[in-house]
Amino acid sequence: MRIDILTLFPEMFEPLKTSVLGRALEKDIFELNLINIRDFSKNKHKKVDDYVFGGGDGMLMTPQPLYDAIMSVKTEGSHVIYLSPKGAVLNQKKVRSIAKSYEHLILVCGHYEGIDERIVQLCIDEQISIGDYVLTGGELPAMVLVDSVLRYVPEVLGNKTSMVDESFTDNLLEHPQYTRPREFMGLRVPDVLINGNHKEIEAWKAGQKILETNKYRPDLLDKG
Ligand code: SAM
Repeated sequence: MRIDILTLFPEMFEPLKTSVLGRALEKDIFELNLINIRDFSKNKHKKVDDYVFGGGDGMLMTPQPLYDAIMSVKTEGSHVIYLSPKGAVLNQKKVRSIAKSYEHLILVCGHYEGIDERIVQLCIDEQISIGDYVLTGGELPAMVLVDSVLRYVPEVLGNKTSMVDESFTDNLLEHPQYTRPREFMGLRVPDVLINGNHKEIEAWKAGQKILETNKYRPDLLDKG
């Protein structure tokens, strides 16, 4: 998968070059291009923002640098996403669908008061929000989207089966998990997990998923 991120702050994306994603990047399992929107400004001072027509506080990102930046990376199969509080709120189903549907993502990160509406009309295929709150920029939302989508790209996660049991599969949360030692601060690992009976273990996990979901996110059970 190829991911082009359009931002005024490319230096914010170091976390994507770390840990699991960093290793996948080194192995060329995905391609990540950080494009500085300011490089496309035709303004002699490289300005990328201006006052908002009709008044209001703050500055808005001007259309020209953004338009040219998007056009510089657009391909026939690319899907252009604007990270925006106005978008549909991201969930696992959406993440999976993006991962399966597109080989080339172009992510547009807004800043200040956001971007000129004409860019939304001309260039944006979809708007995605990461929650009903407002952040200072689209950089953190873009990283959330990239991280969650890349987990579905084959070979990014070493252990391919690890996603099957994870939270939000079948609208359920994951069962509780334990590692060594068998007893910690007086709390023991449930016996069923160490008795070696795989049928019993699977039955325990299935039951615990429902209990966990009921306890922490009962709203998910209504969607099942
Ligand atoms: N004036 C905008 C509004 O009220 O809808 C908010 C602009 S916000 C301060 C600046 C940028 O941060 C946005 O253009 C968007 O790219 C990003 N952003 C902020 N909150 C976000 C969220 N919940 N999800 C995705 N992107 C967000």
